[in-house]
Amino acid sequence: MRRRWSLLAAALLVTGTLVPAGPAWAAPTFKVPFPCNQSWSGQTRSDHSPANAIDFNRTDDLGDPVVASAPGTVDRVTDLGGTSYGKYVRIDHGGGYTTYYAHLNGFNVSVGQQVGYGKVIGWVGSTGGSTGPHLHYEQRLNGDDIKVKFNGTLALYWGTKTYTSGNGCSSGTGSGTVDTAGSPLTVRSGPGTGYASVGTVADGAKVTIGCQTSGTTVTGTFGTSAIWDRIGSGRFIADAYVYTGHDGYIPNVPRC
Ligand SMILES: [Zn+2]
Repeated sequence: MRRRWSLLAAALLVTGTLVPAGPAWAAPTFKVPFPCNQSWSGQTRSDHSPANAIDFNRTDDLGDPVVASAPGTVDRVTDLGGTSYGKYVRIDHGGGYTTYYAHLNGFNVSVGQQVGYGKVIGWVGSTGGSTGPHLHYEQRLNGDDIKVKFNGTLALYWGTKTYTSGNGCSSGTGSGTVDTAGSPLTVRSGPGTGYASVGTVADGAKVTIGCQTSGTTVTGTFGTSAIWDRIGSGRFIADAYVYTGHDGYIPNVPRC
C-alpha cells in the first residue's frame, strides 16, 4: 500500500494536480444571474440536460443582460453554433466551482477576464439548441452539475419559481437634502406617518440614506410618494421632502 501510494503521489506531482490536504473550499455565494432587483422565472425539470440546470425566462427577455453569479475568472467564451449551448460563457470561481450561461445572444467578456457580482457577461438569446429566448444556467463542482443554490439556499427542484436578484446590489448609501420650504421635517420611528415622532431634521439639512422602503403615501415638496428614507436606526423621513436627484428609489441604495 505504501508503495502504491507513493507512485500515485509521484504521478500526481508530475501532472501538477497534487494539492495539499486541507478543508474543502467553501462554495462561493452564488446569486441570481441577472441585475439587482430583477425577477425571473426559473424552471428545473428532471428531463433537462444536465438535470440540475435552470432555465430562466421573463417577458420580452431577448437581449436582457446576464450577469456573473459570483466573482471569478471567465475561462470559456465559446460559440458552438446551432447546437447545444450555442454561445456560452463559463466562469471559474475557484475550488472546482464553475458556472455556465448558455444560449446567449452575444458576449460582453473575454477569456481571462476577472468578473465580480453584477458584471454583465452577455445577453439572453436563443442560440444553439434552443427553441426560444431563455438563459440556461448551471453550477458545477469539479465538472459535475450540482443543484443550484442562490445565497446558500437550494433552488426549487422540480418546478418553476420566481427568483429575485440580489446580485450586484450595492450596499452603498445615498444622500439627499431635506426641502420643506421652511419648517423642520418630522422623523418617524418607522416608514409612515402613523409611527411615533422621534425628532426632526431642519429644512436644508443633508441626510445620509442607508436604505429605502415603502410606507405611508405623502405629498411633499417633490410630489407624492410612498417612499421613506431611513436616515439612522429607527429614524425614517418621507422621501417626498428629500431631494435625492431621483424620482423613485435611488439606484444602488438597498430596500430596508
Ligand atoms: Zn436549459
